Amino acid sequence: MGDCIFCKIAKGEMPGNKLYEDDEVIAFHDIHPIAPVHFMLVPKAHISSLANCDSSHAGLLGRMLLLAPELARKQGLDSGFRTMINTGKGGGQEVFHLHIHVFGGGSSLPRT
Ligand code: AMP
Ligand code: ZN
Repeated sequence: MGDCIFCKIAKGEMPGNKLYEDDEVIAFHDIHPIAPVHFMLVPKAHISSLANCDSSHAGLLGRMLLLAPELARKQGLDSGFRTMINTGKGGGQEVFHLHIHVFGGGSSLPRT
């Protein structure tokens, strides 16, 4: 975990454009936004991906999902937002520390 960038941001060892923090979760803006508002929800504990979660993570995952609409609203995404979790190389994951992307704003998002 020594060189995990999201662990470093969570520990305050690397700067991040933070918008939320509690004991278990941090949220910060994506450094390469794909929409006018684009942030991610990240557990402070190092979990490589959604595929590395089990039932012991159910509470944490539930809390993270419930934070998405709350923080999206605070970021002005009144008409809605998109969530995305890239999992594993085949899922396009580049940073192997679990994160939920939340993005929206501006003109409408492409269909998935
Ligand atoms: P993925 O693993 O495919 O969900 O992609 C990782 C995401 O993390 C990309 O959208 C990057 O722009 C973003 N990212 C990488 N490094 C940083 C950083 N230091 N601060 C904020 N976002 C980052
Ligand atoms: Zn990490």
